[in-house]
This record gives sequence, structure tokens and C-alpha cells, in this order.
Amino acid sequence: MSEAPKDFIREIIENDIKTGRYGGRVHTRFPPEPNGYLHIGHAKSVLLNYWIAKEYGGKFNLRFDDTNPEKEEQEYVDAIKRDVKWLGVDWEDREFYASDYFEQLYQWAEELIKKGKAYVCDLSPEEVSEYRGKAIIQDGKVITPPGKESPYRNRSVEENLDLFRRMRAGEFPDGSKTLRAKIDMAHPNLNMRDPVMYRIMHVPHHRTGDKWCIYPTYDWAHGQSDSIEGITHSICTLEFEDHRPLYDWFLDQLGIHHPRQIEFARLNLTYTVMSKRLLLQLVQEGHVRGWDDPRMPTLAGMRRRGYTPEAIHEFVRRVGVSKRESITELELLEHCVRQDLNKRAPRRLAVLDPLRVVITNYPDGQVEWLEAINNPEDPSAGTRKVPFSKVLYIERDDFMENPPKDFYRLAPGREVRLRYAYFIKCVDVIKDAQGNVIELHCTYDPATRGGEAPDGRKVKATIHWVSAQHAINAEVRLYDRLFTKPDPLDVPKGHDWKENINPNSLIVLQNCKLEPSLADAQVGDRFQFERKGYFCVDPDSTPERLVFNRTVTLKGEWEKARQQS
Ligand code: ATP
Ligand code: MG
Repeated sequence: MSEAPKDFIREIIENDIKTGRYGGRVHTRFPPEPNGYLHIGHAKSVLLNYWIAKEYGGKFNLRFDDTNPEKEEQEYVDAIKRDVKWLGVDWEDREFYASDYFEQLYQWAEELIKKGKAYVCDLSPEEVSEYRGKAIIQDGKVITPPGKESPYRNRSVEENLDLFRRMRAGEFPDGSKTLRAKIDMAHPNLNMRDPVMYRIMHVPHHRTGDKWCIYPTYDWAHGQSDSIEGITHSICTLEFEDHRPLYDWFLDQLGIHHPRQIEFARLNLTYTVMSKRLLLQLVQEGHVRGWDDPRMPTLAGMRRRGYTPEAIHEFVRRVGVSKRESITELELLEHCVRQDLNKRAPRRLAVLDPLRVVITNYPDGQVEWLEAINNPEDPSAGTRKVPFSKVLYIERDDFMENPPKDFYRLAPGREVRLRYAYFIKCVDVIKDAQGNVIELHCTYDPATRGGEAPDGRKVKATIHWVSAQHAINAEVRLYDRLFTKPDPLDVPKGHDWKENINPNSLIVLQNCKLEPSLADAQVGDRFQFERKGYFCVDPDSTPERLVFNRTVTLKGEWEKARQQS
């Protein structure tokens, strides 16, 4: 189990345990709305809630906050469960749905009506908002001048009950009436100015079907759902801080179990949008191939790309929790992924952009199986054999015909080491009619088998290779950032944020050559292709043709900066 450093949330909880609030119990929940796939921000929230429950011997609920049938679907419920499970979060049998509380919420709403604390209002949504008023700036200060009371505010309890029951019975069209809490239209907090509790929506719900045509708002459903489940600490993001007085007000009016709401700052990442609404646009408008496109900040996308749950755990731990809004560098996430894959990913030889090399003095038809290390970071990973033969592939950019001073790899007349094999020397460059290099002729020195020369002569570079006759073909997809700007929403007025999409975020290489041991790689398997990065087998793979995603390069800006300092 993962220990996170003490933060303000854990301090509050430990204090509640000490003072005996909630009888020392800790019970948290993660309440996703099933209107999209989970993203890395949700991972922070779900892990925080789950870890806290575990650390204090408490319970953790997964609750679908499914109160808005217009945007919610079963597909999303299934995807969310898959992703939460993948993260290693076990909610056991504690899976709940706010829609299961619709009847109880309705009964409680009647209770508030009977106490004179709620009324049916006929104002249109626009009028409700106009009557509520808004914050303005006066003498440099933000103030909220009093709003205006609804003309329907003083309906009798009997009339309200009758109208509310008829709302439920479907007698009124969408948007014609709402149920509102009767609080204070002059309250400095706008959320307390008679907030809406129910809207009329003749829309079928993915779980309750046609049973309901009135649906509770978030504010009305959330705290009461927490209360029903016996949640002690309702941890949410900062945008709900202004709603906390309302959260508390409803629970106080009903006199039911009263959890403590605690807010923390959302996770924001550079080069990333993290609102489901915006992610949905990327999917629907075809900017990516789906919610699980490896360029998406969704957990499904990251899984497909080859990120590990452990790397995400480490990332979330390192980001920590705070009350202050901040933006985390995408580099930190990539760094965590590299660190984890470095420990566990087996090394393999793969040539992404092949250039043919003929070893002219190597016997025709001979094959040697050379020993290669599976993972220098993990001796228990052992070794494997890779075949060496007369015709090989090397990476095209490991050769230069006219190399600049600081290029140490293969060039005419130059000797380099082939990883796990021999020194080779380039003796001839073969070109096509257009002058493109299509093949190199090299000689090898049989005495350098294993990579050292007995006479002590040195080479300045070691390059990777595969045997042409044994190589398997593969497609490799290279990903770059999805956006060209650290803040993707930063566009001049009147422009679309999607203008910041990076047109080169995906490069597909069709003709990659892999060492033969990769032939039985399975979807989801992760490898380090030596010198090239970390790669993961994509579900688009077929038995005939493997497809790999590049998870992350070997070094990012972070690692480079550290090396220099
Ligand atoms: P989005 O704005 O991305 O659509 P949301 O808040 O509407 O997110 P919910 O499904 O309501 O999505 O979120 C479930 C939980 O995850 C909530 O408690 C929410 O506060 C939390 N959460 C959402 N985004 C982030 C984030 N970027 N960082 C941390 N927690 C988040
Ligand atoms: Mg939400």
C-alpha cells in the first residue's frame, strides 16, 4: 500500500479521529458522473480517497453520480469501473448509484416543503438566474448586491406539495417549473439564493428508465447521497468550496448524518485539457481516434499507450494535495513512467527506420545466436539469444555519409560496435538512381565477438541492429504532445482552442524490424527498444502484424537537465 506524506486533508481527518467525531470512523467515496471517461485528474481524486480510507482502516465507496440523464450512459459506467480497477482501487461490493436514492431524495424534498423550506417556482431558467443577481466589482471589491425574490416564493405548503407531486407525475413540460430551496435571496453567497433542487426533464435515465421526469440537481443530490452512505469525509475539488454552505444547510435542515466536505485544488497538467466536455469534443470531432487514443489524458488512453498504474500512483504521490491552484508539468508524469518502466520493461532490439547492411566477410548462410541481457536493472530477468547473420538492419540515422565532427556513429571508413555482437566497419555505400543510400557494405572483425577488441582498440559508438532474415515486421506509432501550447486553451479572442492541436502528434512507421523474440508479444506487453524508448503492444495488433505504441522516449527534458547539472 502506498504511503503519501501528511497533507492538510489527512491532518483534518486525524483530528476528527482524535476528537471522536464520527466515532473515529473514516469513510470516503469517489463520485464520478458517468458522462465521459476518467482522466488523470480523476485518478488523483480516486487514489486520494482510496488511500485515505486504507490508511485509517476505513471504507471506500465508488458512487456513480448519475443525476443528469441527458449526458450519461452505461458505456461510461463500464469504462469507469474498468479504469478504477486498473488503477488498483478495490471498492469490493461498495458500488452505489445516486439514482438509487431518487425516492429518498424526493421524500426529503417533500419534508423541506412541509417545513416551509422549499417551494415550486414558475420562473424560467433565465429569470431564475436574473433574479439571483450576480457578483460585481465596486471600488475594487467584489460584492454581490441582493437578488430579487421570486413571485412564487410565498406559495402555501399545500400548494407547493400539490404542484411538486404533479411535477413528479409528469403534468408539466420541461423547464416550466423547478423546486427551489427557500433560503435567502440577499445572501452574500449566490449559491444560497434559493438554489434549484429539481428540474423537469422528460428524459429516460440509463438506470431508472422512464420512472422519473424530475431530476435532482448536484447540490441537492450530493450531500444527501454522502449522508445515506455514511460518508465521513466528502473530499472534492475547490470549485465546490462555495457550495459547502449549501451542502451543510441541506443536511442541517434534514437533521441527518452530516459528513464533512473538504476541498483540494484540481490537478492541471501542461499540454493537456482535462474537462470531460472538452475531451468529448476531441472524440466527437475526430481529432483523436476515441476516448482511449494513446494521446488522450484518459486512463484508457494511458493504459493503451503503456503507462503503468504504479507510475500513475507515484505521480499522484509526488504531486500531493494542496488548496492552491497550480499546473503540473507533463514532464513529471513522463518521468514517473520512465522510472517505472526502466525497472520492469525487458530490453529488445528493434529498428524503426531500417537501413540494410551486408557484412561482406561474414559466411553466407551462417547464423550465430548471441546472448543479450534482458534488463540491466533487474538481473533476475536473465538473458535471451538474438540471431546474427550476414544481412542486418540498422537505424538509418545511425549512418551519415558526411558526418559532422560530433557524430560518432557509422560513416564511411568508420568502425562501430553492434550491441551484443561485433565491431563492424563501413567499406562501401550503395545508392539508388536518385542518390539515396539504400545499403551499406561493411566488414566485421570476428575477434571482437562480445563487443571488445583483443588489441584494445576502441570505438566511440554502439548501435542496435536486427538480423534481416529473422526480423519480424511491425507498425510503430510515435506520439507527441496533443497540443502545441502548455495551456491548450490559450488562444486569441474569437479563435477555437482546437487551433492549438499539434498536427504532428502521431507519426506512424510501417516498416519497422524487430528481433524475433518479439513474435509472441501480447497486447499490453511493454518493452524498452534499446536506444529508442519504451513501447507497448497495441490492441490493433493481429497475429500477422504487431502494432506498437511508443509510451515515452528514453529521456525527456527533465532527465536531460539533470544530466547537465
Ligand atoms: P470534468 O470537469 O473533468 O468533467 P468533473 O468534476 O465534472 O470533471 P466528475 O465525474 O464529477 O467530473 O468527477 C468525479 C470526482 O473527480 C469529483 O470529486 C471531482 O472533484 C474529481 N475531479 C475531477 N477532475 C479532477 C481533477 N482535475 N483533479 C482532481 N480531481 C478531479
Ligand atoms: Mg462534476
